[in-house]
Amino acid sequence: MKNIYSNIYSFNKKGLNKTIKNLNNENIVGLPTETVYGLAGNAYSIRAINKIFKLKKRPKKNPLIIHYNSIKDIRNDVLLNNNFFKLYKKFCPGPLTFILKKNKKSKITSSALANLNTVAIRFPSNRIIKTILKFIEFPLAMPSANLSSGLSPVCALDVFEEFKKKLKIIINGGKSKIGIESTVIDLTSKPKILRPGIIGANEINKILKINLVKKRSKIKSPGMLKKHYSPGIPVIIGKMKKGPSHAFIVFGKKYKNSNNYFNLSKKADLKEAASNLYKIMRKIKKDGYKKIFVGKIPNIGPGIAINDRLKRASK
Ligand code: AMP
Ligand code: MG
Repeated sequence: MKNIYSNIYSFNKKGLNKTIKNLNNENIVGLPTETVYGLAGNAYSIRAINKIFKLKKRPKKNPLIIHYNSIKDIRNDVLLNNNFFKLYKKFCPGPLTFILKKNKKSKITSSALANLNTVAIRFPSNRIIKTILKFIEFPLAMPSANLSSGLSPVCALDVFEEFKKKLKIIINGGKSKIGIESTVIDLTSKPKILRPGIIGANEINKILKINLVKKRSKIKSPGMLKKHYSPGIPVIIGKMKKGPSHAFIVFGKKYKNSNNYFNLSKKADLKEAASNLYKIMRKIKKDGYKKIFVGKIPNIGPGIAINDRLKRASK
């Protein structure tokens, strides 16, 4: 029987070589990171960037995060500042994305940046993506490997489900450890978190003062307000209505096992809950449920990021 997953490769010599070859040829590949799986392409290539936007059906005004292996590689692309160095020292490599001013010398394709004069950069910690970045001579533009506005993939099969054979290669790196997207912090002026993540505002605030005001100021980051992270069925927050095709996402010890109850973390661990969020939402959709009701999730630490994603999924 023909293996329908023949574009999913293990990360061995063959997988690495095929990945490098495709990236050098301005093709797009599906790669694991510690946050979620990404659609990776040469950030300096217009062709590669066009392919990413087309594959994802991503609005052109939503800029891509650019991924690097080392701080040595970024100087020609962005202008560095002290706040960056402080946070880099504490949190990198890891799930933190910095918005910095673009260096005029930068070779990053302006369409990858939605023509902005700022660049979002990240240093992933996942061993596979780090190794790949060492073998190529350009940074990787890499949004999550899903169709625009959908759920981010957290394993190679999720990526396959989204793009099937449209990708020549997807590297299987197991389940993404963190399971939700990076924290995004704007360092172009007074530091401000644009997207919450596992690295929380309180942790960052210990290193440098950020605005912790709860009230949502007008978000200047493009592509952040609209519907996003949608499982493809309605997500309802704040009430729990019983029904034959209703699924319930809950959190914590007090819930008994029941087939339409999906517990993000039975032991009430918010980090574990974040890592299960997309996996569970994908499963609920696949199992044929028609609506998702979400119980209360504490709005602290990683809970802030979880509630942010659920709120957008419910839009
Ligand atoms: P994702 O949609 O997961 O690829 O995450 C990328 C997000 O980072 C986008 O939705 C933008 O909101 C944000 N972002 C990327 N580049 C920039 C930039 N240059 N300035 C502001 N926000 C950015
Ligand atoms: Mg995304």
